[in-house]
Amino acid sequence: MSKYVYMFGGGTADGDGTMKDTLGGKGSGLAEMSRAGVPVPPGFTIITDVCNIFFDNEKKVPAEVDQQIWEALEKLEKLAGKKLGDASDPLLLSVRSGAKFSMPGMMNTILNLGLNDETVEGLVAKTGNPRFAYDCYRRFIQMFGEVALGIDMVLFDEAFDARKHKIKAKLDTDLTADDLKAIIGEFKKIVKKVTKKDFPQDTREQLLLSRNAVFMSWWAPKASYYRKMEKISDRLGTACNIQTMVFGNMGETSCTGVGFTRDPGSGEKIFYGEFLVNAQGEDVVAGIRTPQPISELEAWNAGVYQQLRSITGNLEKHYKDMQDFEFTVQEGTLYMLQTRNGKRTGPAAVKVAVDMVEEKLIDEKTAVGRVAPAQLDQLLHPVFDVASLRKLTKLATGIDASPGAAVGRLAFTSEDAVTMSENGPVVLIRKETTPDDIHGMDASKGILTAVGGKSSHAAVVARGMGVPCVVGCGAVHINERAKTATVKTGDKTLTIKEGDWVSINGTTGDVYLGQAQTTDPDPHSPVFAKFMGMADKFRGDFGVRANADIPRDAKAARAFGAEGIGLCRTEHMFFAEDRLPHVQAMILSETEKDRRKALAKLLPMQRKDFAGLFEAMDGYPVVIRTLDPPLHEFVPKREELMVDLAKLPNADIKAKKEMVARYKNFGAEVKNLKTLIPDLLKRVEGLHEFNPMLGHRGCRLGITYPEITEMQARAIFEAVVQVAKKGKKVIPEVMIPLIGSVQELEHQKAIVKRVADEVLEKAGMKSQKYLIGTMIEIPRAALLAAQVAREAEFFSFGTNDLTQTTMGLSRDDYTKFSKDYEEKKIFKADPFGVLDQEGVGMLIEWAVKNGRQTRPDLEVGICGEHGGEPSSVMFCYRVGMDYVSCSPYRVPIARLAAAQAAISGDKSEAMRTA
Ligand code: ADP
Ligand code: MG
Ligand code: MG
Repeated sequence: MSKYVYMFGGGTADGDGTMKDTLGGKGSGLAEMSRAGVPVPPGFTIITDVCNIFFDNEKKVPAEVDQQIWEALEKLEKLAGKKLGDASDPLLLSVRSGAKFSMPGMMNTILNLGLNDETVEGLVAKTGNPRFAYDCYRRFIQMFGEVALGIDMVLFDEAFDARKHKIKAKLDTDLTADDLKAIIGEFKKIVKKVTKKDFPQDTREQLLLSRNAVFMSWWAPKASYYRKMEKISDRLGTACNIQTMVFGNMGETSCTGVGFTRDPGSGEKIFYGEFLVNAQGEDVVAGIRTPQPISELEAWNAGVYQQLRSITGNLEKHYKDMQDFEFTVQEGTLYMLQTRNGKRTGPAAVKVAVDMVEEKLIDEKTAVGRVAPAQLDQLLHPVFDVASLRKLTKLATGIDASPGAAVGRLAFTSEDAVTMSENGPVVLIRKETTPDDIHGMDASKGILTAVGGKSSHAAVVARGMGVPCVVGCGAVHINERAKTATVKTGDKTLTIKEGDWVSINGTTGDVYLGQAQTTDPDPHSPVFAKFMGMADKFRGDFGVRANADIPRDAKAARAFGAEGIGLCRTEHMFFAEDRLPHVQAMILSETEKDRRKALAKLLPMQRKDFAGLFEAMDGYPVVIRTLDPPLHEFVPKREELMVDLAKLPNADIKAKKEMVARYKNFGAEVKNLKTLIPDLLKRVEGLHEFNPMLGHRGCRLGITYPEITEMQARAIFEAVVQVAKKGKKVIPEVMIPLIGSVQELEHQKAIVKRVADEVLEKAGMKSQKYLIGTMIEIPRAALLAAQVAREAEFFSFGTNDLTQTTMGLSRDDYTKFSKDYEEKKIFKADPFGVLDQEGVGMLIEWAVKNGRQTRPDLEVGICGEHGGEPSSVMFCYRVGMDYVSCSPYRVPIARLAAAQAAISGDKSEAMRTA
């Protein structure tokens, strides 16, 4: 017979900490703590499989599961010395969800189960504390009503607040036993009205209904959304933990609290958390009353404080990771309710990993695996520029809940945040957030709440997402309906409204009105450098290069640890103001002679750009790609010319002057517009293509106009000579784009080689090394890699185009229907963000293998957007590429992803995860 139910408590447990799959994270933590002798209220865990069985079986549970539950309950009753439903001394239970991976606040928990009209009187008699007993009962009806019976929680809140209002109570704790009794009466009426049935008095029925409700919460929309966001499988299911209640709401010697063994925002080794006296469960995180910092626990009860520090310190040593814990003190006795590895920000992850190596708690390999590559993003994000902040109005200071700087327009609801985020950055402002706000938080650059502390929902979730967040900003009063808020600053009261720009600093808690400037992060902070140094040790000779077109980006890339440039897009320099006229003249030339004249003007400019790149990359390779985009991108738009032509006969002088400004590169004057515009239109129409993506671009341009390739080669190698003569080591690699056949490459390579050898020879630098290779971005080139490698000295996979051409899917058009593809799960991920390892990846593997068969020392890399995406980097490592290349800010992410790939797997076996 399968075992569906596992006991824990009383210094022992059926399961242990290794059984997260079966018991869920919470259940395995409770089992492990029980075994370690930590004071944990006893209980039992219904395993995650039962959740799947429940959903596979029309939401029913087989009788043998129920039977095991009743057997476990009997054991628990013996351990606790109380019985469920006993009218004189009732056992009360909590029913807690808990999946393998923690999903904070996404699923349900029911407390104080086992109370009914009869047992509540037993609890009154037993404790002599009617206020406490009725408080528990009203909480139970409320939670059970909402979670198990699906009653809108607002109905309960309204009834509760009405009573509070009636007796002019400020705090929940101001309510007397009689008030609470009256509230219970109101609550029961609500249950009857909504469900047409009385509140269930049978405690075993309460238990089974609560269990089912916990399972049902696995599919709550917010839980599904969270799983999707965190890439957690729907099939894992949640366990259900049934546990003896302990009470933090028994009076002034009781409390409930949460904490971390280190600061989850910064990673500093300080005891971190909050507690609330005379409170229960979610009161701490709900932001109803503001909790006290955990440092004040010592003054409240020194013994409990010492015990808590010692237990949590040991838990950290035991799990070898920062712990996030929940506890309750019942009349001076401490109970641990939960422990897990705490979620943390990117900076905290790095700091904790580095510190724990120094504390000899973990080794370097473990430390490198502790930081998700994407988390590094938060260390690499800009911070506010101090000077620009001075120009803004400081609105308020709240609690710094999740570090980082965010600038955006205010959105007052999550729905608004989602829509507004399509048109620019958004800061979500809420009184407090609930798990229902998850999509709005996800869409926002920053989050601001009026109430709540560092453990509030907003704070916890924002830290997990790495979104800057300020909470508990009490100076802000929100009118959600009007989508405005008033802020008291000094003696003034300001009103802010939807769409206003604000800048929030999650590191300090400061909130400003207006749009602050941000400055670049410091890649040289000692902790970060130490961590990256550890990671690099595992990466071996797998390189990380950057895509950079100008010297400034190349310098930034070097600072982030780039070992070369994997892609310089020469055409990006063509758009500069001083160049565009020459580029346009070159494109619109009708003869080769005119074209060469224009190219001669561009030569020195290109040479200067390349020299800058070579200098910044002293000693590292620089891949320069010859001209790639269709030429019409550089000339005025055909539609624009057509409109101007139509307008011209009736245009006034102002309109004409605007046209002159528009076409000034083409020698426009007010008096020649009449001939110039139609002439220009004719030439632009000559460049028109039905499908530019598959048209006259890439190497095809160089084949039609060899003089363009020639000029670029000359600029490159003259720059090589220039920089090498300064004593720097230059490693140029010239890359021909968009080839589909070896003949195309042969043609272009001959030009480059002729110019290169001529320039180098003239400079007396015949021994200067260089490579000529190609971008692989057309499936045919990948398929015929063995042939292509005869000519190519390197391959660089241009996976943006290779994805487009392999899938027959244009990146720009895909965005229009990507939502359908995502929702209907046609694609597992956006193929332009995460490499399609199955399809595109198959071509890549094939090309690497066949290319290397022809040319064993073929250098292979990737230069598409995927080069900075962690799972794609791991793929590149495994198929045996020599390097990845990505944007400068993603270089550390790629370095870490490569290190993790090296740690986790061998190169030959391509892991197909995406
Ligand atoms: P979540 O997964 O959302 O954190 P939990 O199952 O941890 O939900 O329950 C939420 C809170 O309820 C806990 O932090 C704790 O304060 C309270 N709680 C849960 N079980 C018990 C219990 N047995 N006794 C007292 N309080 C409990
Ligand atoms: Mg919890
Ligand atoms: Mg391309």
